[in-house]
Amino acid sequence: MGKATSKIQVKNYINGEWHPLSGVKTEPLINPSTGAIIGDMPMSTAAMSNQAVQAAADAYPAWSATALPKRMNYIFELYSAMKENLEALAQAIALDQAKHISEARGEVGRVIEIVQMACSTPVLLQGETIQGIANNINGRVIKSSMGVFCGVAPFNFPALVFGWFIPVAIATGNTFVYKPSSESPLFMQTMMQLLENIGLPAGVVNVIHGDREVVEAWYDNNDVVGVCLVGSTPTAKSIAEGCGRHGKKTMLLGGAKNFLVAMEDAPMDLLIKEILMSGYGSAGQRCLAVSNIAVAAEIHDEFIELLIAASKNITLGDATDPDIIMGPVISAKAKDRIHNYIEIGLNEGATLALDGRNPGIPDANKDGFFVGPTIFTNVSPCMQIAREEIFGPVLNIIKVGCINTALKMIKDHSMGNGACIFTQNTYYTEKFINDADVGMVGVNVGICAPHPYLPFGGVKDSLVGNNKVQGKDAVDFFTQNKVATVRVVDPKVDDSTPTPPTDSSVRSCVAS
Ligand code: NAD
Repeated sequence: MGKATSKIQVKNYINGEWHPLSGVKTEPLINPSTGAIIGDMPMSTAAMSNQAVQAAADAYPAWSATALPKRMNYIFELYSAMKENLEALAQAIALDQAKHISEARGEVGRVIEIVQMACSTPVLLQGETIQGIANNINGRVIKSSMGVFCGVAPFNFPALVFGWFIPVAIATGNTFVYKPSSESPLFMQTMMQLLENIGLPAGVVNVIHGDREVVEAWYDNNDVVGVCLVGSTPTAKSIAEGCGRHGKKTMLLGGAKNFLVAMEDAPMDLLIKEILMSGYGSAGQRCLAVSNIAVAAEIHDEFIELLIAASKNITLGDATDPDIIMGPVISAKAKDRIHNYIEIGLNEGATLALDGRNPGIPDANKDGFFVGPTIFTNVSPCMQIAREEIFGPVLNIIKVGCINTALKMIKDHSMGNGACIFTQNTYYTEKFINDADVGMVGVNVGICAPHPYLPFGGVKDSLVGNNKVQGKDAVDFFTQNKVATVRVVDPKVDDSTPTPPTDSSVRSCVAS
């Protein structure tokens, strides 16, 4: 493993200050494209995590009382700062997460759209009023901020998950503590510099690096009102348990295993192009990446031939190089896990039609963590490679006789993030949208990611609890509803001996 000459110091950002690494346990930050150590990561303690929560709790009263238009000015400033610094943010992602630079730019671009959506928070914050519930009595629903929220990110979407949590959380008046993945912290280091530059008050957003110890410290911290995570399902369930014991609100997006169904009338060129993007983009490390491809028997053989030929054209190399197509996976451990699944597939009797275990890569990247496009054919839905999340550029091809068989496979699967169908037939389209047992469906698209105005999240084991990110759902999560019942009294009328109420609604108001 090579060594970089000048190492990046990844730092915690608490109460408006960067905290030095001296006296803190650190772990190396690795560039997956080369295997080189490029920096040091603080592995913070529970006490440091609680210090970050304290900073957020101290900042909360003033921040939540800040007039809404003034709070929104910071969100507008964030939008402009991200647009101006898109390239620096994307380069940070391409370096430590090793997402291909063009995809990293796409991720930051999507977050800018999410921040744009957060600019509509005041409209979504409007409560409701019912006049005249009874004589002179009105009812009113008020949406209010809650306090300190904490968030945990996975390695594969360092920017997107920031966008899902923080802009809406702070626009609605809360303060935040955020733990990036220790495998991809550099986006957040760059982002905190931008938030500092726009003058966001100290303590409104705090960043703490480390592992599960940082997160577990939040469970019994009374200042924390809620925790959100995007990560694997076991992590989501563990946080649900920890937060559940202490009555905290949670928003927990878990793992995925996504199906794509290619019907006999699928537009073939589009199908192949979208599968290459969905299956091999981010080296298959996306929660909406296609993994199981159910193909109609009529086009099965032709499809496999075309997919293998196209997959062989994918070039691998350094994620910052715009001329290559696919970067590495995140770590040596991830590469070993994917290789292990390839062995499992072979042992289960699937046919390894394309083996990505020894891909061609430039010499400069020989110590990077590369897995090339891999295709299994003759896969059955009960095989382990079809049931479990591999999270790498591995595609399983399953031959199906009809749409009902494909829909049953999707229904029987424990995960339910996204599923896509390729067809030109309206019956298939409508049936699929209606019956596919997932949270997000796509028609003739390889990645069915909903636009930021719409909710994003799966069902079954892909979502723990009910709360989803994006749009109105996010505003609902980061606020609580209070209902006010107001009797309007005329000061000129002596009402000291009220007459008994006559209708039931008034009686219930009086009783409560
Ligand atoms: P992970 O679950 O290993 O880690 C996610 C985060 O949780 C990290 O910051 C990690 O430090 C922390 N963590 C790990 N174990 C913990 C524990 N027991 N308690 C508290 N915190 C803990 O996931 P990952 O490998 O970083 O990311 C990949 C996973 O994320 C995949 O399963 C992928 O499907 C999922 N993901 C889902 C979505 C979605 O929208 N549903 C989006 C992106 C990624």
